[in-house]
Amino acid sequence: MSFSSSYSNPPCAACKFLRRKCLPSCIFAPYFPPEEPIKFTTVHKVFGANNVSKLLNEIQPHQREDAVNSLAYEAEARLKDPVYGCIGAISVLQRQVIRLQKELDATNADLMRYTNNQIMVNQERSNFQYGERMVPSYYDYSSVWNSGIGGDHNNIGPDGESGS
Ligand SMILES: [Zn+2]
Repeated sequence: MSFSSSYSNPPCAACKFLRRKCLPSCIFAPYFPPEEPIKFTTVHKVFGANNVSKLLNEIQPHQREDAVNSLAYEAEARLKDPVYGCIGAISVLQRQVIRLQKELDATNADLMRYTNNQIMVNQERSNFQYGERMVPSYYDYSSVWNSGIGGDHNNIGPDGESGS
């Protein structure tokens, strides 16, 4: 009774597609259940059943499920994009990462500027509280600059040349 029932199990998606008997030792059976026929046909179309079984035999049993899932992903991407396959998806995501990184850098720079402005405002407030006069930096520089230019240019200026 139990002997005959074990043979009535439906074949895995791979064996059904390849029209062969699904033996208990079938390498595909754990990863290609009969409820997911597309998964096998996609992988088979791109990689070939023989290559997939070879690959599954070469790796550790605990790695096989991950390998099958990545093969299914890669095969699906290859069918959608015959030229770039999953590299196409990866490069789109990489460009997105670069764009978002730039956006993040710009936002961090804005944040830094805002924080520095807040610090300056707070410093001005605290200086005011201590009675110190806060001289804006542009005031200092322009006064030094103007006096310097005025002193030098009086000797070699165009006025002296036109007079001679
Ligand atoms: Zn099978």
